[in-house]
Amino acid sequence: MEAIRAPRGTKDIMPEESWKWAYVLKVCRDVADDFGYREVQLPIFEHTELFCRGIGDTTDVVEKEMYTFTDRGGRSITLRPELTASMVRAYLEHDLRNQTQPVKLWSAGPMFRYERPQKGRYRQFWQVDVEALGVQDPLVDLEVIGLSLELYRRLGLSNLEVVLNSVGCPKCRPEHRKALTDYLMPRLEQLCETCQGRFSRNPLRILDCKNPSCKELTEEAPAMTDHLCDECREHFDALLRGLDAVGAKVSLDKRLVRGLDYYTKTAYEILSGDLGAQNAVCGGGRYDHLAEAIGGPFVPGVGFASGIERIVITMESQGCSFGEAPNCQVFLVSADQDLEVRLAVAGVLKELRSLGVRADMDYSGKSFKAQMKLASQKDVPWVCIIGRSELEKSVAAIKDMGRGNQEEAPLSTVAEVIFRKIAGEVR
Ligand code: AMP
Repeated sequence: MEAIRAPRGTKDIMPEESWKWAYVLKVCRDVADDFGYREVQLPIFEHTELFCRGIGDTTDVVEKEMYTFTDRGGRSITLRPELTASMVRAYLEHDLRNQTQPVKLWSAGPMFRYERPQKGRYRQFWQVDVEALGVQDPLVDLEVIGLSLELYRRLGLSNLEVVLNSVGCPKCRPEHRKALTDYLMPRLEQLCETCQGRFSRNPLRILDCKNPSCKELTEEAPAMTDHLCDECREHFDALLRGLDAVGAKVSLDKRLVRGLDYYTKTAYEILSGDLGAQNAVCGGGRYDHLAEAIGGPFVPGVGFASGIERIVITMESQGCSFGEAPNCQVFLVSADQDLEVRLAVAGVLKELRSLGVRADMDYSGKSFKAQMKLASQKDVPWVCIIGRSELEKSVAAIKDMGRGNQEEAPLSTVAEVIFRKIAGEVR
């Protein structure tokens, strides 16, 4: 029988990598704390309707990429493809309108999209998601973009490009849509099949097509930023002034429309020069009408999501630090294999652990030599050796693996002695 493997597009995060993830998530938490965003944990599955109405029926995510199934109670359920719609649902469900606005929330966890897997693109992937709900102030857009940039600064990422656009609002979009479809109509035949389908349903998405001939055809297409209403124009100008004032370098990209329909006004992405084809580490923007789309009142909002896998890949290729791996600090070696000696070793092990020292011993019956070899392979700075002769004298040997010297300490205090050595008090 063939061994069962993980489903296509999923990725096991094994110990060699998981500590790096823990580091990235810790930095996300620290930055979110510093900016006053509070953590929420939301369900991994939601009613399918939340995403159909929230993200938009004509988006790739809803049309082709959702993991949707009927549960045993006959309800249509979808594994979340993103977090923003769930965040807004939770805001409405918990009456957060009664709190001081904006309500600033963040969360991290797995998302699910049935996409074609490739480097940096998976069917289950993690996002850190940050949202500020309840106000329309462009300074909040500035804060959200600033939060993403501060996150990458702390993680040590370089070679990033921030691309920005305004996608307007329901007031000014019809005028742009008309100008765009007038421009595209005579070129319709030359567009790719997907874009021909988008023409009547969602023409704005044609600007975002990666097909080289569509790209060329839309080079001169009318830009949304030339059709903004006064309110959207003012908002965009204020944001641009704010970004300039904080010294954030951004490039304007009139083609940036993003894959989710709920965006209004600000849309932005942060691209990494070290990711290849799937080069976005972060995507976000404003979504002032999402709450209404899912049956709530008007609740403006702005936020971003960033892929954890892509952050880790970029950090690895740029040689960024992930802090220190939680390596073993003391390895305990039984010089003899009888139970009495091994129990003494286990006793010291317990004491060390209760002092918060990362300590371990061998459980596979290795010889003294093999245990010592294992300790040096693990690059453990301290080894504590107990054998029959030590036990008879009620002592244990402590070996400094860096310097190679060895000393004895009474068995009753050896854990404490090692603890102090690790704390750097004595060497
Ligand atoms: P989106 O929700 O599509 O705006 O994506 C936000 C961010 O999530 C992107 O910039 C990526 O970093 C990450 N991301 C989106 N889709 C995937 C995927 N299929 N695999 C890995 N990361 C993804």
